[in-house]
Amino acid sequence: MIPATPAQQRRLLDLQRVDSAIHKLRYRRANLPEQKALDDNAETLARVTSEYATARDRLDRLSTQQRRHEAEIATVDSRRKSEEGRMYSGLIRSEKEVDALRAELSSLRARKGDLEDALIEIMEQVEDLESLVATLKERHGELTGAVAALTEARDHAATDIDAELRERAAERDAVAKELPGEVLEYYEELRARKDGVGVAELQGRTCAGCRLELTQIELEDVRADSAEGLARCEQCGRILVLV
Ligand SMILES: [Zn+2]
Repeated sequence: MIPATPAQQRRLLDLQRVDSAIHKLRYRRANLPEQKALDDNAETLARVTSEYATARDRLDRLSTQQRRHEAEIATVDSRRKSEEGRMYSGLIRSEKEVDALRAELSSLRARKGDLEDALIEIMEQVEDLESLVATLKERHGELTGAVAALTEARDHAATDIDAELRERAAERDAVAKELPGEVLEYYEELRARKDGVGVAELQGRTCAGCRLELTQIELEDVRADSAEGLARCEQCGRILVLV
């Protein structure tokens, strides 16, 4: 049996309380609801940012295409006008030349018609894209704001927990210093194997670690053992302390 005074055994219970508190704080620190909300929003923001950039790129390309079509329509138009001018200038005399000019004019009209049809399609797409870009821009703005607010909330929550953790760590060091190395080692080893609880109080006849009742003989053994050192629960193997 590992020797320990009743006072040291009670300090061991204090150590367990601090360790359990530290464990809970660490769990809370790793599972902050603010962090979860932040992760979700940051993920959506990344997706919207990429969609927003893609939509703007497409809009840029289509706007360029629209300008090119408009310029080409203007070119075709001015060529048509100048050919029409020649046609009616009275300068062209031969039948062959007139036929060639007619064919040219008809081809220019057809070309202009095709370009105008294509332009209408482009303009419809531009309109749709402009509305998509506006929606994404608004969503991007909202999400950026949400991510900033959630980051602040997460940092705030984490800072509070970190401060509490530092306090608890100092408390733990102070308690641990009062205990013999052998007692500490045994406690740590049990804690690692028994779900973070290495020592439990005896409450009436019940071990607070496993909630099982001790038999009369076990109870007497624990009483006798704990007068000199660390008694153990026969059921769960944890250190049992009489308070
Ligand atoms: Zn037990």
